[in-house]
Amino acid sequence: MRPPSVDALARELADLDLPHPLLVDAARAAIAAGDPASARARAEARARSLLRPVINATGVLLHTNLGRAPLASRPSSPAGPSRARNLELDLGTGRRGSRQVHASSLLARLAGAESALVVNNGAAAVLLVLAALARDRAVVVSRGELVEIGGGFRIPEVLAASGAALVEVGTTNRSRLEDYTRAVSAHDPALVLKVHQSNYRMVGFTQSVPVEELAGLGPPVVADIGSGLLDATTPWLPGPPPSWLAGEPAARQTLAAGAALVTFSGDKLLGGPQAGILAGRADLVERCARHPLARALRPGGLVLEALQETALCYLRGDGKAIPFWRMATVAREELRRRAGAIAAAVPAGGVRGPVDCKAVAGGGSLPGLDIPSAGVALNGDHTPALRAWDPPIVGRVEAGSTILDLRTVDPADDAVLAGALAAVVGHRGQSPLGTGTGEARCT
Ligand SMILES: *Cc1c(COP(=O)(O)O)cnc(C)c1O
Repeated sequence: MRPPSVDALARELADLDLPHPLLVDAARAAIAAGDPASARARAEARARSLLRPVINATGVLLHTNLGRAPLASRPSSPAGPSRARNLELDLGTGRRGSRQVHASSLLARLAGAESALVVNNGAAAVLLVLAALARDRAVVVSRGELVEIGGGFRIPEVLAASGAALVEVGTTNRSRLEDYTRAVSAHDPALVLKVHQSNYRMVGFTQSVPVEELAGLGPPVVADIGSGLLDATTPWLPGPPPSWLAGEPAARQTLAAGAALVTFSGDKLLGGPQAGILAGRADLVERCARHPLARALRPGGLVLEALQETALCYLRGDGKAIPFWRMATVAREELRRRAGAIAAAVPAGGVRGPVDCKAVAGGGSLPGLDIPSAGVALNGDHTPALRAWDPPIVGRVEAGSTILDLRTVDPADDAVLAGALAAVVGHRGQSPLGTGTGEARCT
């Protein structure tokens, strides 16, 4: 039998929601592999590889594989007329403005900084600061802070790439003020850099020098705080700061302690889109903004708009409007209630709930600190079936059970979860979402 033509095979896949050229690719690859019947699976795999919303039931709030902080909703809604944005237009004068006045000025205000600049991510913020302020000069860093953050971001390598010269002080576990003092008088450094050990903890016989003391050395102190906690007193939350935040450096307090600049990510504890923020002394921010790299590292309007929205929530004191903070601070009792409702909505007791579990901040922040949480569990590993659901649901497997942690799930998705679990337990295919499971929906 002759193999089917590429075109005929592609037409058989027309029910899949993929543009025709991608169906042709799948058909061609299947025929080339001598396995025309695999065309559908290949096209489906291609569709699954595209970006799409997924339900994060892992309990990892800032899941790096899931885009870190969840965003409230897309800033530019698809409904309504297509409109431009005043990205670089001063609406007062009608002249060219700066894309760094909207989100940046709000973030500066929130951090108690004279000025701020937004770039593409935290790594870019560090790179730009070093390139703009320390090229061909020395930068003093403690040996205990020469860290790798993940994804290949290593402080010594970023320093080398920026053209600054690393001067290491102290030892892995202990650095003292005298170590810095000696290095400063010997090398006339452009900056003293302090890097937060975001993703690991050092315990035991350790010592480091706080920003207060470093600030007295002379050169500007740049603190890469990483996590993007704006204010250690968390005025956007109703109660006191959550205990799991203990010891996390915050932008406002680090600047108040004498740092000339802080750098941090937009999508960690700030709860915004992927971005990097540098904030502090206006003259230093200005030098960074004028550096040619700033143009290469600048964010687009979509990011700035999402970041502006996040900053406005903080200024309103409305932490509940920021999905990360809403999810991080919801009471365990409420999660137990939702888990019980989901378990009850699934027939034949196939799902256990509520079960207590532990969520984590993730995203390389707050290592070793758990946030008490609750969810549902079912025996066996059902994560492949749940990932294949529409929308995909990402859970985790613990001691032979599939755990869906509700701390990272929007309550509006509880009904979807219940529907998926009913299908997985009953080995049924996908039913229309949300139908028949409305009792599990939490308001
Ligand atoms: C996360 C982190 C970075 C990198 O930030 P990205 O936004 O991931 O590029 C840099 N420094 C510290 C201390 C961090 O925690």
